[in-house]
Amino acid sequence: MAKQSHLHCSFCGRSRDEVKILIAGQEGHICENCVEHAQEIIAQELNTRQDTYGSSNFKLTVRKPAEIKKFLDEYVIGQDEAKKILSVAVYNHYKRINHKQQPDDVEIEKSNIIMVGETGTGKTLLAKTIARMLNVPFAIVDATVFTEAGYVGEDVESMLTRLLQNCNYDVAAAERGIVYVDEIDKIARKGDNPSITRDVSGEGVQQGLLKMLEGTEVLVPPQGGRKHPEQKMIKVDTRNILFICGGAFDGIDKVIARRVNTNAIGFNVNKDLQESQRKNLLQFINAQDLKGFGLIPELLGRLPVVTHLDPLDAETLRNILTEPKNSLIKQYTKLFELEGIRLTIELDVLDFMVQKALEYKLGARGLRSICESILTDAMFELPGTAQQELTVTLDYAERMFNKSKMSLLKVA
Ligand code: ADP
Repeated sequence: MAKQSHLHCSFCGRSRDEVKILIAGQEGHICENCVEHAQEIIAQELNTRQDTYGSSNFKLTVRKPAEIKKFLDEYVIGQDEAKKILSVAVYNHYKRINHKQQPDDVEIEKSNIIMVGETGTGKTLLAKTIARMLNVPFAIVDATVFTEAGYVGEDVESMLTRLLQNCNYDVAAAERGIVYVDEIDKIARKGDNPSITRDVSGEGVQQGLLKMLEGTEVLVPPQGGRKHPEQKMIKVDTRNILFICGGAFDGIDKVIARRVNTNAIGFNVNKDLQESQRKNLLQFINAQDLKGFGLIPELLGRLPVVTHLDPLDAETLRNILTEPKNSLIKQYTKLFELEGIRLTIELDVLDFMVQKALEYKLGARGLRSICESILTDAMFELPGTAQQELTVTLDYAERMFNKSKMSLLKVA
């Protein structure tokens, strides 16, 4: 009895005598006041999460495919075919989720997507923009980090960890999110015959992905990795998660060429057309080519929508600099404006930037570093001075670029 009076709430410190109820846990106690307080915190926390993603009883207002494409147009230049195909796939996917299925209804299957295109052509940007439009949780994962269970690397389940982390562990929101799996081509099977020796990073990982892509309940380690065996798993249903996979599939044009046999296009066809088609064989891509590259048929079956991205030519690069809603030039103009400086970039400077990006084979990703190399000096020197205007001429741009580290790179 005497021992009981020493008991106290482990949260607020009140002693046994100061509270009505003291509930015992394994290593401490909690009083009725603290339980109430904890309840309030939980309710509040869940409410804010619902505000972010409109959880639980949520119904997405999905725009029509044409509107989705229009939204994509604001951020992504060109890539019309990919945008159209993505818009339809995303529209159907979320229509399927919103539709309350009746027992004898036709079951609409999930339309996961695979995008093929050179690096830096906008695959990630497309996936990211769609998630932004829908305001659903989004995660980008790299297929190269995954290995079969039991080997050094990450389990495929950890891609869902990333998704959960990005929405504060709101499971309901994560369950209708989008996962972008980059570099899917890097887990292609090496060689065309099924492996005799175990192919740790390739086929095994593809096998691991199957169930998840199709839709299943997965136990996800909240902190990822295999280092915390004690962590309590979170159950995530992937039935309504949209998986978008992307990869460069270097050399797949040869696989396509073999199938399409470009010579067969015929000699009456316009020469220019033939040439342009040969240049971008990706437009003819289908699942069969991806199988030829080393993706297993079962995986391809779960990625029914196949599309391609065009390589970026000079005109597209030029538009990427100025057209998107948050284009690089608009961003730099804003940065200078915030310093009270009006930035003008002459038109031939834009051509110069594009020419350098092509010369160094840097694609759209390189445009940013080229802009930096030209504008860094001004961004360093001008703040705090009385200067209110900066006009970047071709001469200035060339001088700045030539003294930057970038110019030391070897031309590809
Ligand atoms: P990928 O995933 O195909 O390797 P990204 O989508 O990551 O390429 O593109 C890299 C960057 O290049 C993007 O952040 C974006 O700034 C720019 N970019 C690439 N393609 C486009 C495009 N078609 N329209 C607008 N910006 C683009």
